[in-house]
Amino acid sequence: MTDEQRLIQDTVRTFVNERVLPHAIENDIAHRLDMSAIEGMAELGLLGIVIPEEYGGAGLDFVAEALSCEEIERGEAAFRTLISVHVGLNSLALLRYATEEQKQRWLAPQARGEKIACFGLTEPAAGSDVAAMKTTARRSGDVYVLNGSEELDLVRHCRRPRSWFSRRPIPPPSTRASRRSCSSRACRAFTAADTEHKLGVWAGSTGELFFENVEVPAENLIGEEGQGFEIAMYGLDQGRFTVAAGACGVIRACLERSVEYARERETFGQPIGKYQFVQDMIAEMVVGYETSKLLVMQAAWMKNEGKRNTRETSLAKWHATESAFRAAHLAIQVHGAYGYSAEYGIERYFRNARAPIIYEGTTQIHKLMQAEHALGYRRLNGRDGEVSPLCLVGAGAGASSPGAPTSLPAPDQTGAPTGGPETSASASARINRTSNGIAARTGRPQTGQRIW
Ligand SMILES: Cc1cc2nc3c(=O)[nH]c(=O)nc-3n(C[C@H](O)[C@H](O)[C@H](O)COP(=O)(O)OP(=O)(O)OC[C@H]3O[C@@H](n4cnc5c(N)ncnc54)[C@H](O)[C@@H]3O)c2cc1C
Repeated sequence: MTDEQRLIQDTVRTFVNERVLPHAIENDIAHRLDMSAIEGMAELGLLGIVIPEEYGGAGLDFVAEALSCEEIERGEAAFRTLISVHVGLNSLALLRYATEEQKQRWLAPQARGEKIACFGLTEPAAGSDVAAMKTTARRSGDVYVLNGSEELDLVRHCRRPRSWFSRRPIPPPSTRASRRSCSSRACRAFTAADTEHKLGVWAGSTGELFFENVEVPAENLIGEEGQGFEIAMYGLDQGRFTVAAGACGVIRACLERSVEYARERETFGQPIGKYQFVQDMIAEMVVGYETSKLLVMQAAWMKNEGKRNTRETSLAKWHATESAFRAAHLAIQVHGAYGYSAEYGIERYFRNARAPIIYEGTTQIHKLMQAEHALGYRRLNGRDGEVSPLCLVGAGAGASSPGAPTSLPAPDQTGAPTGGPETSASASARINRTSNGIAARTGRPQTGQRIW
């Protein structure tokens, strides 16, 4: 790590220790989204961490983003989810696909933390199989008319929908009952409903949006008509990365707490840490943390280098989220009955670690992707890209080798054509920790300004 990256890690860790962890259990039990912590994250620049300074961001690199997500989720999953959706899924897609005018209108206020972004792709009948979506956008003069529904995080922030996807051509509108409506004229007939009872992330907000003849100015279209799938898949490449990085924070939290407890708790006259069965659980957390972090950093490096990283990001997301859930399960076991009690906050990690195995591609979908890459059934860069080097082992040839078929599966959320090659990025912003943390950089990026 560079000195700058260490400084970011240290700054965010201090923020979490002082502003997040002291209230995390209480907020979780009360199902309270702590807006003051979100304001603090905005002040640190975390809501625009990898967005260039010209659009109000901190202009930092993907290693810095990963380190920040790890620290944040060590404190509270709801806030890492915020970074995943707001920065990963939404803002980075805007940075790549929006027009200059749209960037100034949406991206810049998002990066400064003045507006919170959402991302609605999932529908009741379309989760893993994104292409099955039913939400429609019909062009009518200078507006698009939206009908359908989307599931999304951060629904409590949705006064006006920020980013959603729809398909064409347009079947007849279908609508659903709603509980909360938006009063502004621009989003008339847009309604939102919280998911009231859920397993985890009680301190966050998840729910559904409903569109019933919602009129959206045609000028709000991101990219070209028909490009939505590509944009969504590009966003998922960014979001999954932050999910994987955050999962490292869960594993570290479980490891730290378990080590501390195992040293102190005594049974039969000695600390439980002396027992091999307990050591086995600690060791499993260690290997989960180290391997997850290495996979995350591999993906971060590729992103910084502008290399295509869909496969590597998928691998990191699958492994890190499964390792985090396993670590939380083991941490409860190390703590015995205390681990099961809300008061200790260990069961919170367990509950919160469950959803990341489902969203941004289920574990099964990521396994499928990895196998298809290894078999040569899937291209690294969409339809016309190269195959994974893994599937060339023993074949001694390129994409035209016997192991590399010429036809690909139909696109779905498992990965698909997702745009052209990424460009090089730089990690050169400076931090002035004595004043405002990440947001108070004293210099500008020196080379290779990120342009996507
Ligand atoms: C807490 C939370 C927050 C969320 N936030 C958002 C959000 O902000 N925005 C958004 O758009 N969505 C969000 N989602 C939705 C999430 O992305 C979907 O739940 C996810 O994509 C899975 O889709 P599904 O639930 O429809 O499951 P399905 O796709 O119906 O899958 C059901 C099961 O079948 C398996 N399966 C499906 N297809 C295959 C296959 N081809 N091969 C093998 N197994 C398969 C899956 O792995 C899974 O086990 C959120 C979900 C959760 C739990």
